[in-house]
Amino acid sequence: MTLDIRTLELLRESLAHLDAGFAHLPTFDATPNDQEIRSMRGVLKEVAERLRDNYPYAHPFYAGQMLKPPHPVARLAYALAQHVNPNNHALDGGRASSAMEKECVAQLARMVGWTEHLGHLTGGGTIANLEALWVAERTRPGGVIVASAQAHYTHSRMCDVLGLAFEALPTDRHGRLSVSALEERLERGGVGTVVVTLGTTATGSVDPLRDVLRLHGKYSFRTHVDAAYGGYFGLADNLGSDARAAFDVMAEADSIAIDPHKHGLQPYGTGCVLFRDTAVGAYYKHDSPYTYFSSAELHLGEISLECSRPGAAAVALWATQRLLPLERGGKFARGLADCRGAALELFARLEKDSRVRTAFSPELDIVIWAPRAETASATSSRSRAIFEAAARSNLHLAVANLPRGLLESWWPDLTWDREHVTVLRSCLIKAEHRAWLPAIWAVLDPVLNTHTDR
Ligand SMILES: *Cc1c(COP(=O)(O)O)cnc(C)c1O
Repeated sequence: MTLDIRTLELLRESLAHLDAGFAHLPTFDATPNDQEIRSMRGVLKEVAERLRDNYPYAHPFYAGQMLKPPHPVARLAYALAQHVNPNNHALDGGRASSAMEKECVAQLARMVGWTEHLGHLTGGGTIANLEALWVAERTRPGGVIVASAQAHYTHSRMCDVLGLAFEALPTDRHGRLSVSALEERLERGGVGTVVVTLGTTATGSVDPLRDVLRLHGKYSFRTHVDAAYGGYFGLADNLGSDARAAFDVMAEADSIAIDPHKHGLQPYGTGCVLFRDTAVGAYYKHDSPYTYFSSAELHLGEISLECSRPGAAAVALWATQRLLPLERGGKFARGLADCRGAALELFARLEKDSRVRTAFSPELDIVIWAPRAETASATSSRSRAIFEAAARSNLHLAVANLPRGLLESWWPDLTWDREHVTVLRSCLIKAEHRAWLPAIWAVLDPVLNTHTDR
């Protein structure tokens, strides 16, 4: 089976256990009646039919975008929690799940090296970054937010939402924030916050956080680390030395965004923002007449921009981290190392293949490459043809549009008849990709024969 059906039995068992916790109440049966169940069966069959119209994200042959189903324990814990449907806005809405959120967020903070922190789950990385930039503005009013041109597109959008000035800085030939360009910009003054991306979305490049932090001696600015994608990779034991150096100093950042719904095996709707200085909690103060703060303890709604949030997301993350603790050498860490191992292996195969062009070696688990052709436009159409042909053979890759400036030095013989080139991009985001690489290559190889000049 491509999808996990067997573990559903565990939901039935754990649900019965949860239900027994409410046995003291007067009898009330929440089960729909037979007629309703028959109607639901019809609707759900239709839903299943509709959902077939998706790429097979669960299968190792899906090696395209950053997509995969959550870990079964996350899915089951989420479903279990939905029978209660706690709201982590306030303790009254979700006592247990708020406590679980605080615990698993503290584990994330410990993973980056913080014993103290302020933080909470968010709807995703965009909202986590939004909060970090909102706090950044409060600590350094009027400061410009800078990030590399390869930073996530939502930074400039969220700066727009917040009414902050945003500037994109050039990258080096590895797709990392250029430290010399940053220093030049800092020299000119007015920068409030530097966004450092550990794992860019397009190429998985890791900005040189250590070098950025070194500039603190000379300039004053706030550092926000956007590790929505790459945040967990510090646990892996097979990073290159530059990436290792960056992950090793994450604790020196002022704020960090990590998406458990990217590499943390969670369903969508689970991001996380962390602040090093707990005092920033004061910026969130509000006095809502609707909020029913019944206890003196911290309600998560007091330290987040969003109001209602799914307690189920916290329960799922808690369960996942309970099963797979965030420790170096553990099973979760080995899974990340396998993802990177798969990327390195794919890169090694492509690098020695005369049919294709490669650029920089993957720093995390994203590989970009392109079929050999004379011009940028011919490369782009061949990339799309390979994407489509591979899909017809059930192998799903992705394409990315990258700027000339990033690839020019790697591909000196390419004629740039346009300023961007479409390349192939694979996020090897599933640990299984490592064992499946030979099978993936067996599909890709004949596709390349057909769509390149040999
Ligand atoms: C995915 C991503 C985001 C946006 O996160 P969402 O969870 O999609 O809102 C931000 N930054 C980086 C580096 C990302 O990879």
